[in-house]
Amino acid sequence: MLNVALFGPPGAGKGTQSEFLIKEYKLYYISTGELLRKEIANRTKLGLEAKNVIEAGGLVSDEIIVQIIENTITGNPDSRGFLFDGFPRTYIQAYILEGLMIKLNTSLSCLISLEVPEEVSVQRLLNRAKISGRSDDNEIVIRNRLKEYREKTMPVLNFYKEKGICHEIDGTQSIEDVREEIRKIIKEVLSKRLLNIVIFGYPGSGRGSQGKALAEKYNLEYVATGPMLDAEIKNNSAIGRKIKELYESGQLVPDEIVVQLIEKKISSTKDVKGFIFKGFPRTLVQSYILDGLLKKHGSSISLVIDIEVPTLELISRLDARSRTDRCMPYDTSTEKIVKRLQEHEKKTIPVIEKYKQMHDVVNINGEGTFEEVFLRLCEVIEEKFKNLK
Ligand code: AMP
Repeated sequence: MLNVALFGPPGAGKGTQSEFLIKEYKLYYISTGELLRKEIANRTKLGLEAKNVIEAGGLVSDEIIVQIIENTITGNPDSRGFLFDGFPRTYIQAYILEGLMIKLNTSLSCLISLEVPEEVSVQRLLNRAKISGRSDDNEIVIRNRLKEYREKTMPVLNFYKEKGICHEIDGTQSIEDVREEIRKIIKEVLSKRLLNIVIFGYPGSGRGSQGKALAEKYNLEYVATGPMLDAEIKNNSAIGRKIKELYESGQLVPDEIVVQLIEKKISSTKDVKGFIFKGFPRTLVQSYILDGLLKKHGSSISLVIDIEVPTLELISRLDARSRTDRCMPYDTSTEKIVKRLQEHEKKTIPVIEKYKQMHDVVNINGEGTFEEVFLRLCEVIEEKFKNLK
């Protein structure tokens, strides 16, 4: 999702710039001011509570704002993103927005601040008063709205500066110039956005070879925990020696080690369009870890793919592999093969079930030639890339 907040004093041009943003990026527009004016026009209880405050140029209570905004956001979970105009307007509302975004498993992508000196705001609002018919567009109320902005709304900027997602624009430029600057900012935000795919499938489903080929085609970093552990052993690193000890005593490698390696990989990888995870997460615990790791890096899972192949076909593929030089140590007997399939069923299927409730999970038919399956995967990924933009 692309979630944008337009920030700036009354009269900065937030409403005007919203129009092109909604069209160009297909965002769902939320203007708390407009929502409040609707409540007033419909003479609802909320509207009556807010009316006097708005007419005096004050800020409506955060409690009222939460009520009007929550329904709108949670009622549109399938939207491509939201455009907030006039929200958040207090430090508390910045936290409220964080909470709402978490509920939708997303985050605010950027805050764009249109900077305009007070006198310019006053002049623009007085001009607007001639046509807007808004009871709060008169000089005394305007001055009060600006005072509220200075005292209660300006501190919100720091909240987003600290998060590193605040962009400031000179709002006294022409409408077209401001629009161009906004476009540039959004382009930059989108280009930093990662496509993170988790690829599932039973052993033998082709997830490894398909994952590698997809990573190459779409400039994604392929993250497979098995080979990462092997590489550490090969490099004889401190972690590698520990892993070797565990392997030799037949123990599982604990999550602490796997997490360190994945975190190192995510932080050190540059200039890719995203990550493709294979073999991780394997358990529910690891699924929480991956969500946490990506969140720490300002990202999240974009797509979950489950490659489906009938069990008999899996056994026959793994058996065939065991007779080639691609034979893995765990392919050598039917007993081992069946054990791996059972292990997947027990530990990993619950992860896919959990992801179904949180992310886009796409089932791909894994039968047919490598190329046939690859094409099916490419189609899904390209669709996802389109929606990211
Ligand atoms: P606007 O249309 O954004 O200029 O908002 C008009 C008026 O609605 C403001 O002066 C406030 O009284 C009220 N209002 C709009 N959004 C908020 C908000 N997020 N928090 C508190 N009051 C708001």
